[in-house]
Order: sequence, then structure tokens, then C-alpha cells
Amino acid sequence: MTHLSNSISTSELQQRDAAHHMHPFTTQAQLSQKGARVITHAKGVYIYDSDGHEILDGMAGLWCVNIGYGRDELAEVAARQMRDLPYYNTFFQTTHIPAIELSERLARLAPGDLNHVFYAGSGSEANDTNIRMVRHYWALKGKPDKNIIISRHNAYHGSTIGGGSLGGMTAMHEQGGLPIPNIHHINQPNWWAEAGNMSEQDFGLARAQELEHAILELGENRVAAFIAEPVQGAGGVIVAPETYWPEIQRICDKYEILLIADEVICGFGRTGNWFGSQTLNIRPHIMTIAKGLSSGYQPIGGSIVCDEVAKVIGSDEFNHGYTYNGHPVAAAVANENLRIIEDEGIVDTVRNSTAPYLKEKWESLVSHPMVGEAKIVGMMGSIALTPNKDTRAKFKADTGTVGYICREKCFANNLIMRHVGDRMIISPPLVISKDEVDILITRALKSLDQGMEEVRKQGLWEAAE
Ligand SMILES: *Cc1c(COP(=O)(O)O)cnc(C)c1O
Repeated sequence: MTHLSNSISTSELQQRDAAHHMHPFTTQAQLSQKGARVITHAKGVYIYDSDGHEILDGMAGLWCVNIGYGRDELAEVAARQMRDLPYYNTFFQTTHIPAIELSERLARLAPGDLNHVFYAGSGSEANDTNIRMVRHYWALKGKPDKNIIISRHNAYHGSTIGGGSLGGMTAMHEQGGLPIPNIHHINQPNWWAEAGNMSEQDFGLARAQELEHAILELGENRVAAFIAEPVQGAGGVIVAPETYWPEIQRICDKYEILLIADEVICGFGRTGNWFGSQTLNIRPHIMTIAKGLSSGYQPIGGSIVCDEVAKVIGSDEFNHGYTYNGHPVAAAVANENLRIIEDEGIVDTVRNSTAPYLKEKWESLVSHPMVGEAKIVGMMGSIALTPNKDTRAKFKADTGTVGYICREKCFANNLIMRHVGDRMIISPPLVISKDEVDILITRALKSLDQGMEEVRKQGLWEAAE
């Protein structure tokens, strides 16, 4: 083991954490009482905590550690780059080799004429860039009023003011004055939860056509862009019915609307291709990237932009940038991460071997009495928990009560599986082996059994009206 040794007790670390560290998306007072889990090191698909637990990370951190933990090559590249050139900006007609090499590689990997990269420090920042870029694009084309961006309820596009506004998370909009003006949300294609008696096919079409209705209502001359995740991640790994994306593409082609694919999760092999847009046959003008771009080893994001948009934006000074645009250490690490994914054929292994294996096992979870639907695309999957599969019933208890119970059981069984409301989701490192998939599924089943027992014990096995 090469990890740093830890001789400090867990409770001491928890107290010190609670005293000074504010956690994101957390009720701090509650966590301070309970104590945060202290993660000390990680290797492959496993993370280790300060109590010595070996936990299978079914979420790849936050959907990002695509190549798994503990790859020395990335540490080496980071150290070398820090010695050579730890930082320089790209504002003042300067550039550096990591930014050149990474941009070249991204242009080669990205589909179609997505050939130009504007960097950011994260996915949220990249989406902030996108808001300004698409609006400025239309302004430069003489259409300054074409500035409304259409997004979807329950989408996740980050947590900055711009990213949070694009996103459709009600709980986020309730705080801090979101969304900003001229962002319009249509409904998501969540068949399980929202389709009533409609078939999947009809529902997918209907939800896609909401885009057309919105464009017609707002006016084609007012709508700048539509943004969507190819597969919604943080919203609960919502896989749209098959009819959805072809119809969305048809609508975007028909009207003069830029299509932004938020590939922050779906990119870099997650869906079994380099990008989710390829899996779902989407032709975006801009792709948002982050997370798997560096496998989380360094914070970096960006927008991959098509020739036409890059040309128009490039015809004027774009008054926008971040100190850490294309940060040399982050760019060098991202480039090495992508080299590894390419050289080791990780995307092919996912598509041809491990993802089909996981799919079969994952879909078999529907035979569990508490599991309604099981959805999976590549290495991102979800199951809907329900007290009655036939009616696709929700639980009577507050949404998320049952999901949280199951998540706690997973933790106790050394599996990280998240809950979004009463959906359980996974997004493991892409390098997970078949044996490790077996372990994941065994622990998930055990946790579902124990979760169901707990739900019954607490009298929560009851459907909402
Ligand atoms: C995580 C995420 C973001 C935000 O990325 P950050 O790096 O957390 O700012 C944006 N879009 C999607 C689809 C994401 O999953």
C-alpha cells in the first residue's frame, strides 16, 4: 500500500470536520451530529474509510472516476507538469502544450465537426459559458432577442447561478433566486413516474413534442438553444423512451435552434461509446464535458463547439474567461486519462463485454418484489422502488424515505449506491470487472432485501393514493 497512513481516530477527524468544513448538498447540522464518513484512500473500484471498510464504489465518486482509482500514470504526469509549468493563462495570446494536446485529442474523439474546445474548471462553469456563448452567437448573427434557452424539469446542469438555472431541480430553484431570466423548462421523459396510461412510445413522442410546442409558443426567433443530458444522471438515471431523441433531433433540425448535449456524465465511455450523443444518435452543436474528462483526478470541464459556432464566436472578442481555462496540470492529467482510455480500449470493453454483462444482471433485479423498472445504458443504471409494480405506485411516505433506507443498507453492506427520491442508481468506474459486477449485484440484492424488511417493519409498505 502506498497510501498515507492515518493514525488519527475517526471521531476526532469527524469533530474537526464538523467544526470548520461546510459540505455541499448537506444539512450541515444533521451531519455534524452523525459524523461524516472519512475516506482515506482508494484503489481500482474500491474506496477505504478510516474504520477500515473496503467499499465498492458503485458511483465512481460522483460519476467521474471512469478509469478507477489509483492510476500512478496520472500522478506522474501531474508532478512532471507542476515542475515544468504549474500554471500559465491562455488569455493574453499565449498557450501551452497541455492545452494544445488535449484540444487536439478532444477534437479527434468528438463526433462530427465538434472541433473546438473552450475550457472551464467544472461542468457548471462550462454550462455558464454555454449560456453566454449561444446568446452571443445569435447576437453576432443579428438576432439579439434569440436568447431563450429551453431545458427540462429535473435536469441537472450544475450548481452555479447559470448551471442551476439551466437545471430543473425544484429544490435548487427554491434557494438563491433561481432561475435567471429567459430559461424555459419543459417536462422530462420519465415514463415510469409520469406517463399515466400512455405507452412508452407515445409518451416519448409526446414529451419530445413539448419542445416544439415551446418553440412555437415562445417564437422561433426568441429561442437560442435546447440543452439536455443524453441520459439524465442526477435526476435518477432517466432513460428516455426510444421515440424521444429522434423526435427531439427532428425538431432541432426543423427550427433554427442550437442543440447542447450536456455530456458531463455521458461522455468518455459511460454509455458504451465515447459520447452519449453517439449512443443516442444526437447531433449537438455544443457538448458540455467535465467529470470523466479527467476521471476526477483534476477539476476540469469545457465546451466542445462545432465549426460554425466557433467561427461566429471567433469573429469578435468573446468577453469571457476563467483564470484556470485549460489549466496546464488539469489539461495534462485529462490528456493522460484519455490516452489510457484509448490505449487500453476501455470504451470497447465496456460496450462489448462488461456493460452487456452488467445489463443482464441489473435487469434481473426487476424480479425483486420492491423493484418496478430497471433501466441501464452502458455503465449507468437505475431501479425504481415501488410497493406495487402493476400500478407503478409511489410509496405513501415522503418521496425518498424508502430510497434513503435502501441507501443506508447499501452503505452497511459496503456498496455505494445512491438514491434519487425512491430510485436507486449506479454509475461504477468503467474498469469494473465481471467479478466485481457480481459483487455489486450481490450486495445490491442483499441491501434491497434488508431495505424491504425495514420498510415493512416501519409500516411504510403502503402505496400513495
Ligand atoms: C455534475 C454535472 C454538471 C456539473 O458539473 P460540476 O463539475 O459539478 O460543476 C453538469 N451537468 C451534468 C449533466 C452533471 O452531471
